[in-house]
Amino acid sequence: FNTERFGQHILKNPLVAQGIVDKANLRPTDKVLEVGPGTGNLTVRILEKAKHVTAVEADPRMAAELTKRVQGKPEQRKLEIMIGDFVKADLPYFDVCISNTPYQISSPLVFRLLSHRPLFRVAILMFQREFAMRLVAQPGSNLWSRLSANVQLYAKVDHIMKVGKNNFRPPPQVESSVVRIVPADPPPPVRFEEFDGMNRIVFSRRNKTVHANFLAKGVIEMLEQNYRTWCAEKDKIVEDDLDMKAKVEQILLDTGYSEERAAKMGIDELLKLLSAFHDAGVHFA
Ligand code: SAM
Repeated sequence: FNTERFGQHILKNPLVAQGIVDKANLRPTDKVLEVGPGTGNLTVRILEKAKHVTAVEADPRMAAELTKRVQGKPEQRKLEIMIGDFVKADLPYFDVCISNTPYQISSPLVFRLLSHRPLFRVAILMFQREFAMRLVAQPGSNLWSRLSANVQLYAKVDHIMKVGKNNFRPPPQVESSVVRIVPADPPPPVRFEEFDGMNRIVFSRRNKTVHANFLAKGVIEMLEQNYRTWCAEKDKIVEDDLDMKAKVEQILLDTGYSEERAAKMGIDELLKLLSAFHDAGVHFA
């Protein structure tokens, strides 16, 4: 039951566990955040190299096993276990995040880490292979998606290791991969909600033109609403003859992206498009 509810697939291969921890290049001064430590196969290896580990574990029985594993050892005082759901937990300061993630929370995990301040140095995370491939996908490839763009705006992501299902007990349904995430520091001065809001439209049908996606049902109405709110906040008078569809089409024409498709647009192009909308007072969040 817990296997399903918490995605409990314990990493049994010691070489893989050690490989993951080695990839973090831990320093003796590092504070590490681990999400879902389970029985602690990664945790004990992290504790050998780092100054402190905060491990967030949803299942109290797993937490108890991990506690037992370090009990009476010198590592014990370096480890703090927080019992609870990572998504709701108050995160401490951390330099590095290492985790063999329960796959249900892959997306919230990545975005929560990237929005955490101060920024961490590096994260080494295990994901379902397909999710990992979307994180590293490049424009023009099949897996290039809103997820790829949103993450790559804020971080450099590399695929560093394939991990087959037989390295876990019980084996999961799918293959896994380990990725390295290094946040851009300083982060780009772009609000996530704005970039993501525009990408929701542009990537809604990634092989259709940007123009077609902006004309999809409800989009123009939503942007008009946002525009009116923005004008009100800025004490700007809304044009009497406001024609939002024409406004949007003009922006798309001016940027030259009207007939482009999200499937081929890179971060820089998406950023240019967003900035053209913002210059015209059109917002997405
Ligand atoms: N890290 C261990 C390993 O590599 O052997 C265990 C990995 S297992 C795939 C995922 C672990 O995350 C389980 O211990 C599970 O109980 C825990 N977990 C699941 N959902 C969680 C959540 N929302 N917050 C914190 N931990 C969670």
